[in-house]
Amino acid sequence: MTHHLRADVVIVGGGIVGGSAALFLRQAGASVILMERDRPGSRASGVNYGGVRRQGRPPEHLPLAQRAHALWANLRSLIGEDGEYVRSGHLKLARSAADMASLEAYAARVENFGLGLQLLDTADLRRLYPMIGDSAIGGSLCPEDGHANPRLVSPAFSRAAAAAGATILDRAPVSDIRITPEGFHVTSAQAEITASAPVLINCAGAWAGELAAGIGDPLPISVIHPLMAVTEPLPPFLTVSIGVEGGGVYGRQVERGNFVFGGGRGFAHPKADARSATTPPDFARPERQAALRLLAQGTGLFPALQGCTIIRSWSGVEAETPDHAPIIGPSRIHPGLFHACGFSGAGFQIGPAVGAVLADLVTTGRSVTPIDAFRPDRFSSPA
Ligand SMILES: Cc1cc2nc3c(=O)[nH]c(=O)nc-3n(C[C@H](O)[C@H](O)[C@H](O)COP(=O)(O)OP(=O)(O)OC[C@H]3O[C@@H](n4cnc5c(N)ncnc54)[C@H](O)[C@@H]3O)c2cc1C
Repeated sequence: MTHHLRADVVIVGGGIVGGSAALFLRQAGASVILMERDRPGSRASGVNYGGVRRQGRPPEHLPLAQRAHALWANLRSLIGEDGEYVRSGHLKLARSAADMASLEAYAARVENFGLGLQLLDTADLRRLYPMIGDSAIGGSLCPEDGHANPRLVSPAFSRAAAAAGATILDRAPVSDIRITPEGFHVTSAQAEITASAPVLINCAGAWAGELAAGIGDPLPISVIHPLMAVTEPLPPFLTVSIGVEGGGVYGRQVERGNFVFGGGRGFAHPKADARSATTPPDFARPERQAALRLLAQGTGLFPALQGCTIIRSWSGVEAETPDHAPIIGPSRIHPGLFHACGFSGAGFQIGPAVGAVLADLVTTGRSVTPIDAFRPDRFSSPA
């Protein structure tokens, strides 16, 4: 028998974005139903690198990242646990004079955003970070960036939202959305539930494009599979989270000694019972040779990794947009519909602030944080 539920807002997707939106909407007094296909935080939000990094984001993304930075500082009071969040510092390395010039230019461009970037020349780098190999010639340190454990943090947002009074439905894949003058009727045939609300928020991650297309509001979402790996525990050698100008590899050592690192891509692993040819896969897998190539790059930067063993590698399913900026804001077609998706490999740090912005938009009609760069209609051709 189908159960009919009603609320002010229905959210599809229980990643860090949907979970935090549910929490902030409850805090603002709205009634909320969140429908998650699997378990909250079980997709990109729970399997990512855990980088809580502002450095390297484009200037127009920094107001949102700064709002998130303030929320991360209060993580325990927000979600009831610290999620192993540490402000370890994020050090971006330069491997050439051109890379160093690029780091210097970035530091100048974002000077007014309060990141507190410290540029390090070769002598500084050798003195402060003797564990870094000779291939790096300088770097830029963001002392208050850091990392957290995504497996702990992301589901905790939905748990905190439930504790604040939101209805969190797991194992409730949305199978149908009907739009009427009264609002949205969202059905999960599997969970035998229909949830109705005047507001619908699309937080469906890599599946957000499919959801939007299904209600006639297509978004240019493609799917990527970032590759991650972790080594056996090693003696402590690194306290900061590392990135490299120009990309390629990033990594950090966790307290237990394992070196967690990422770069490159895995591949899609569609389930045999995939819902349709156009549906993004539920899972992604690492490719062995790619993981070994990644380790070779890591070893070039950190001699301490020489000869170590990779004990696990994995990948995830993540949404990407053509300009690598997320899509956050109201639909240009359906009043009451909001999208928050397309985080292009960088949504974990800003996730909590995206939830706060969505709560602003739904309850006050505007966001106190500038989000123009993320408008859903920026891809539409002018009429
Ligand atoms: C390997 C990897 C490393 C990364 N590293 C970092 C990093 O270091 N720092 C950083 O900032 N970002 C990183 N990211 C990106 C970050 O993880 C994502 O941008 C972020 O988690 C996106 O959150 P989300 O809530 O939008 O999506 P998701 O976590 O994918 O959540 C979307 C949810 O919607 C649900 N859903 C989809 N369709 C339906 C439906 N029809 N009905 C019900 N539920 C549905 C899904 O099951 C899923 O749980 C990384 C991503 C990956 C994959």
